[in-house]
Amino acid sequence: MDLSSNFLSPRRETRQIHVGNVAVGGNSPISVQSMTTTKTADVEGTLAQIYALAASGADIVRCTCNEEAAAEGLVQIVSRSPVPIVADIHFHHEMALAALDAGVHGLRLNPGNLRKPDEIRQIAAEARDRNVPIRIGVNAGSLHPDLYKRFGGATPEALVESARIELAYFEEVDFSDVKISVKASSVPLMIAAYRLASETFDHPLHLGVTEAGPPPGGLLKGTAGIATLLAEGIGDTIRYSLTADPVEEAKAGRQLLEALGLRERKGLDLIACPSCGRAQVDVIAVANAAQAALDNRNLPIQVAVMGCVVNGPGEAREADIGIAAGKAKGHLFIKGKIVRVVPEVGMVDALVEEAEKLVAEGVEARLAAADSTAEAEAEADRRALLQEGGSDPNSSIAKIEAIRAKYT
Ligand code: SF4
Repeated sequence: MDLSSNFLSPRRETRQIHVGNVAVGGNSPISVQSMTTTKTADVEGTLAQIYALAASGADIVRCTCNEEAAAEGLVQIVSRSPVPIVADIHFHHEMALAALDAGVHGLRLNPGNLRKPDEIRQIAAEARDRNVPIRIGVNAGSLHPDLYKRFGGATPEALVESARIELAYFEEVDFSDVKISVKASSVPLMIAAYRLASETFDHPLHLGVTEAGPPPGGLLKGTAGIATLLAEGIGDTIRYSLTADPVEEAKAGRQLLEALGLRERKGLDLIACPSCGRAQVDVIAVANAAQAALDNRNLPIQVAVMGCVVNGPGEAREADIGIAAGKAKGHLFIKGKIVRVVPEVGMVDALVEEAEKLVAEGVEARLAAADSTAEAEAEADRRALLQEGGSDPNSSIAKIEAIRAKYT
């Protein structure tokens, strides 16, 4: 576990539930969720998306169960899925019962549109008998009209009260295998609602900013809400709601948890300097080339792309491996120590090759295999560049001259 998690607020204690084989709450790892966009009746299409989501970081996947054909599809999906499946239920209580018959690992009920107490109790009793947990999924946009009126709108208090009422129905049939969400598309409202929920319930909380929209705005809104709460120790499972391929939701969820040090690194973390007047290469192009070359290799390391050798290796010394540009060369470094100097044209290839060896052989072995002249050669380049005061790889001077020629 990354030590950075120690700098966040301690995680709030919640009871633990199990969605299939994934523990949620307590001290279990914070899990990533996403939702399929296929018709659930399309078994092969839905399973293809579930496999893609699982490969991108989703621990749990939700599918809509909106019609009988969807419930029938769930029978096969559940038995062939690599991750637990949750059925999403709105309006139709019989779809919740059918999804339980299909063998789903969890249900999500929306208290805003499933309103009959007898039906709610019946679903909870069936879920109880099958040891299947339910998420009470409150949504500001579909809040129960009575609560909307009573609280004068979709306030944090109204969202939490909606969850509390639903929970009370569940408790009448002795069912408490529950997680709760109080989502809103407004980030400040969502943050306030979850803070209140965390004071009110000891059930695990499922975090999300609903209807966040397409990236990059949707990613920013989701991150603003989810990360703020996680940093306060609130939240046990998360979902980005993006208007995009759901694979982007799973990737974002996983990357956020890794960035916060809340999940172990499973994939690549590419860092790169923002570039400046000292840069010796087009940092954006090199970083994109490195990202493309490393993306599907599943190397669980941090890789740095730095625009100059003057500051690059030092500033990125915590990275597992990196490359810094200087005088038409690339300085390849491991944990800040220069191991090879390579021609600029082959620097991305050299970076990829060394990254694979680093993962296969370990840091000590690759430091021991360092080119013995690399440090001295790199130092000479650094000194020369410091004396020159940097070059102009972004062609700033040429662009300025072109503007002057055109407009003056
Ligand atoms: S590493 Fe070099 S090029 Fe990149 S921002 Fe820092 S000083 Fe500028």
